[in-house]
Amino acid sequence: MDLLTNAIESIQIGVDDFRAGSRPRLLSAVRNIHAGILLLFKEALLRRSPPGSNEVLIKARIEARLDGPDQIAFVGAGRKTVDTQQVRERFKSLGIAADWKLFDQIADVRNEVEHYFPHLTQDAIAGVVASAMLIVRNFAANELGAEPRELLGQKTWEAMLQVTDLYQEERKRCDQALTLIAWESEALESGVKQIRCQHCGSGLLKPAEASSSYSDTTLQCRGCGSTREPDSYVAEAIAEALDWEAHVAMTDGGEEPYGECPDCGLVTYVYAERRCAHCGETAATECACCGTTMSASEMASSPLCGWCDYMKSKCD
Ligand SMILES: [Zn+2]
Ligand SMILES: [Zn+2]
Ligand SMILES: [Zn+2]
Repeated sequence: MDLLTNAIESIQIGVDDFRAGSRPRLLSAVRNIHAGILLLFKEALLRRSPPGSNEVLIKARIEARLDGPDQIAFVGAGRKTVDTQQVRERFKSLGIAADWKLFDQIADVRNEVEHYFPHLTQDAIAGVVASAMLIVRNFAANELGAEPRELLGQKTWEAMLQVTDLYQEERKRCDQALTLIAWESEALESGVKQIRCQHCGSGLLKPAEASSSYSDTTLQCRGCGSTREPDSYVAEAIAEALDWEAHVAMTDGGEEPYGECPDCGLVTYVYAERRCAHCGETAATECACCGTTMSASEMASSPLCGWCDYMKSKCD
């Protein structure tokens, strides 16, 4: 079967799975939609592979071949096709545009749902369908020269549009309600919009009742009604909001963006904000003993830096 048919059928089956709504079908929906979009991306690479190159752009391995004197061709080798990271790199070097941020959201849900969320509901997966719809709409038109409705078929496309509308409306409602709270931390404010219900996996959480301060704010899941207190969600929100910075710090070296708070003990001290997003502690960032500037990972021992804390007796 050809790649494009495969891509389309995966997405169509995924949307049918979503509509069926049972937990096994919802798990299958995420897998199929994720796989379908990746295949659609590969189709764009396939179309750009020169004739006689053994589909070079979708092959994981590329070989140089001598095609005559002074004539070198690059051809695909083996059967293995590109993985997500390779698709991303080739899109970048070839100038093919795709919304990777939305794709990463789908990939995150795919990685999470199978392990958590015992009571998975449609609400939890609606965001995946919405992200998929937005990716396909632009990618089909811009990179495949196709009308998405014709590509996926009327039935699937209509269903995706409907889910997206409902999801975005509800998302907006949640975000508006969340904006009314004084979060006192930019990281926390952006992070609470990204966390999920621990019960059903829905990302649609909003304040359970009107309150002005984040410390009095209980979040409630729109889907199943479960609630979460700041003790449970602040650390997760900070981790979500600063996920990219933490990733860069880990891979390229550099300072961690957040660390353990010396006062409340949660991993919620946001270094750039010089404040714990959970308890509001504004711990000293200069060591009281040796005067060096402490990193986020040393904040737990504030007012002493990691070294002076270890050598405590000398400072007394
Ligand atoms: Zn829930
Ligand atoms: Zn704290
Ligand atoms: Zn020190």
